Amino acid sequence: MNRLIAPLVAFSLMTAKSQAASEIRITPNDSQPSIRGAAETFTGTVRVDGLFKGELPARIGGGTVTFEPGARTAWHTHPLGQTLIVTAGVGYVQQEGSPRQEIRPGDIVWIPPNTRHWHGATASNGMTHIAIAEAEDGKTVTWAEQVSEAQYSGK
Ligand code: MN
Repeated sequence: MNRLIAPLVAFSLMTAKSQAASEIRITPNDSQPSIRGAAETFTGTVRVDGLFKGELPARIGGGTVTFEPGARTAWHTHPLGQTLIVTAGVGYVQQEGSPRQEIRPGDIVWIPPNTRHWHGATASNGMTHIAIAEAEDGKTVTWAEQVSEAQYSGK
């Protein structure tokens, strides 16, 4: 590459990059398949749809999680907290050391950073929520052990 063109190419590459980052991006619904919640981190049947992740410097990410009756997450924490927006059904959220609480469509749940908790459906009804969390050093969740039947049933 000659000395005249090189700076022009470098400039146009920079311009192309900044344009790409400043353009609205629509991810079509059918561009990513539904995912089954992993057996290591969920009990019961769980479906995850619409995963999303902001581009740096944004840290936001999340997805829509659907729990069949009786299904729930394992115990876990989020380094920078988590917001849940319930969109369907009836479910529970429980912070360790406190009783489980019922959650319904329209409810917005804030889970503080590094707070052990679980969320899921009730035994009789499924539940869907949108889950949103910011990443710290690329990590949004730390998983722990499964929620036992006794813990799940509030005993
Ligand atoms: Mn959570």
